[in-house]
Amino acid sequence: MTTHKVLVLGAGYAGTAAAIQLAARTKGRDDVEVTLVNAHETFTERLRLHLTATGQQVAELNIPELLDGTGARFVRGWVTALDPGTRTVRVDDDRVLHYDTLVYALGGVADTVTVPGVEEHAHTLNSPEDAEVLAGRLARLEQGTVVVAGNGLTGVESAAEIAEQHPRLRVVLLGRREPGAAMNRKARAHLQAALGRLGVEVRTGAEVTKVLPDAVELAGGETIPADVVLWTSGTRAAPLAAAAGLAVDDRGRVITDATLRSVSHPNVHAVGDAAAISQGYGVLHGTCQSGMPTGVHAAVSILRALAGKEPKPFRFGYYHTPVSLGRHDAVVQFTHPDDSPRRICLTGRPAARYKEAVTASPWPTYLRMKKMPASGAFWPRGGRFTRGVR
Ligand SMILES: Cc1cc2nc3c(=O)[nH]c(=O)nc-3n(C[C@H](O)[C@H](O)[C@H](O)COP(=O)(O)OP(=O)(O)OC[C@H]3O[C@@H](n4cnc5c(N)ncnc54)[C@H](O)[C@@H]3O)c2cc1C
Repeated sequence: MTTHKVLVLGAGYAGTAAAIQLAARTKGRDDVEVTLVNAHETFTERLRLHLTATGQQVAELNIPELLDGTGARFVRGWVTALDPGTRTVRVDDDRVLHYDTLVYALGGVADTVTVPGVEEHAHTLNSPEDAEVLAGRLARLEQGTVVVAGNGLTGVESAAEIAEQHPRLRVVLLGRREPGAAMNRKARAHLQAALGRLGVEVRTGAEVTKVLPDAVELAGGETIPADVVLWTSGTRAAPLAAAAGLAVDDRGRVITDATLRSVSHPNVHAVGDAAAISQGYGVLHGTCQSGMPTGVHAAVSILRALAGKEPKPFRFGYYHTPVSLGRHDAVVQFTHPDDSPRRICLTGRPAARYKEAVTASPWPTYLRMKKMPASGAFWPRGGRFTRGVR
């Protein structure tokens, strides 16, 4: 009997969901071997990186312990290349892992290459290490200005957190549109009032053209002095897939078919922020709420294919956008499946409790899936928004 090797690259929200599903559903079988590769042994709760960046403690969640007892293997290392021709992956440049089926789940990072000076002078929340470097810098700064460039939800959460944890610092939030632009009027008004209460200076219509060692330059020539710049604008996926010749979109995300297989390399499944996944309403944008279901779906599809069954199309509909505004306030915009805002939203302390419950939920969900894999199969399929597409 030959053993089918499934290799999962990246233990973020999506990759961990895929790995634990595969591990739990193949426990005790010796015809399938599951290996999970990740840069760290500790699970990075990306949703809490703005807490790490402001010196707050987050829980240590151990990935090998999660897999313990399932038979799945964990490899700690940095993936440097993949070769679909030989079905191999290079880790830390000196190890080579073979696969029959690959799950590509390396996530995405802020785009630090498009605007000059970002790579050299700006901080990011791309990894726990980056967040810790920023935390150290903020802690040492007795006074001064922190510019948060990009006022999407990561920028809003970060600006609010920095202003709350470091009230002596001036925090300027820059972006093209008004913060919370995709929310309904009430949610948006709450978000903007909270930023005002925390003393965050909001500048809209601002296009950063360059980051300098001590300032940011805007289109039109204005410069804003900055002791620290946090860059949260734009996203791009790791360059590995493109370098390996997989079909990718303009952000480097692996383009998938309806079942989450790469359109160019069907033995590669792509999930989470690393994948360009089309639904009836458009391409999924990176979230944890959609990332975990993509991981579960890829795992189930791989096992269906091994059992000689056709994989099913992936369907997903959004249901909420929870945004923290410091530790005691938040706003939760409930959404239609296509992510457009509903009329209902939650604000204030109840929203902060809701946001915390959502942020804390992935790890218990993985633990539950380890015992009962079918418990991971519940997510909104999007109803008429995703029905009958492809
Ligand atoms: C501050 C902040 C707040 C956020 N808040 C929310 C929110 O409230 N709700 C929401 O839905 N989304 C939120 N997001 C977005 C969310 O975090 C992402 O959509 C989600 O993390 C995507 O999951 P993923 O598994 O695709 O990727 P990730 O979680 O980024 O995981 C990728 C994994 O791959 C590993 N990796 C990457 N490259 C390599 C390599 N070459 N070798 C080895 N390992 C590698 C990484 O270390 C990581 O463990 C937030 C993001 C940030 C930064």
